[in-house]
Amino acid sequence: MFESLQDGLSSAFKTLRGQGKLSESNMRDGLKMVERSLLEADVSYEVVQTFMKNVTEVAVGEKVLKSLNPGQQVVGVVHEELIALMGPVDNSLHLRGKDEVSVLMMCGLQGSGKTTTCGKLGRMLKLAGRRPLLVAADLQRPAAIDQLHVLGEQLEIPVYSDRAQKDPVAVCNAAVQQAKKLGADVVILDTAGRLHIDDELMGQLTRIDKKCNPHQVLLVVDAMTGQDAVNSAKAFNEALELDGVVMTKLDGDARGGAALSVKQVTGVPIKFMGTGEHLDALEEFHADRMAGRILG
Ligand code: GDP
Repeated sequence: MFESLQDGLSSAFKTLRGQGKLSESNMRDGLKMVERSLLEADVSYEVVQTFMKNVTEVAVGEKVLKSLNPGQQVVGVVHEELIALMGPVDNSLHLRGKDEVSVLMMCGLQGSGKTTTCGKLGRMLKLAGRRPLLVAADLQRPAAIDQLHVLGEQLEIPVYSDRAQKDPVAVCNAAVQQAKKLGADVVILDTAGRLHIDDELMGQLTRIDKKCNPHQVLLVVDAMTGQDAVNSAKAFNEALELDGVVMTKLDGDARGGAALSVKQVTGVPIKFMGTGEHLDALEEFHADRMAGRILG
């Protein structure tokens, strides 16, 4: 992913670097190429405007234009601004001590990768010495409960489900109440997904949030859906006050716009990224590393 953005930015920088001393007008032409690359990568329009304003202010300043190598300086300015765009990120899940029960509430639209991410997070926590419990609270999709059980078996992580219970709030609450008895110290709630955001879904999630008082509410979004991912993050955050985003499918050929826009548009950072279908394909998201990757 990010290939076309990387290509676009690298040809902009090549143009700027190739000119030695730069006039303000040369610099502005080069920056136009940067702007075009960001828009083509599907970064949201407002985000691009703010980004370019910040970059331009520094890039056409005397300190850069009069420097020995203004083209090279601009790369540094863009790098810093990319980091500011996606950060700061607090990757911690702020879990309680192991003798208490922590609750992670996972939300997301259907197909975003929510259930897979619950498994990935469970695996990551288990490796860190925690005792996770996966909770099948997606009662919308009958196969979702089975999917979580399969993941649990694969990972050797217990799964709580109650096929007779029709109320997901009751399922989540019962799981949290019984977590200690079941030997778990982190409860991961796999809540319902829908194809689109609707009031019923948000009402259900808000009730789970109130009842279970999760330590962290994480939204799973699919990078491949571009600005739709950003818009859904905005809507979920208005209803739930998210602590972080998990952006999945960053291994795919998404153009990168969602990853670059979501923090600025919603104020919520990406904490983790999914980089494949396998259960070990979950990484902490670091703004500086991502900026470095984009700039190649
Ligand atoms: P849910 O409906 O949100 O629970 O989505 P699922 O967890 O069932 O995932 C939907 C599809 O996305 C499955 O085929 C997953 O294997 C796939 N998937 C999830 N995360 C990633 C990821 O980071 N990269 C890739 N390539 N596929 C993913």
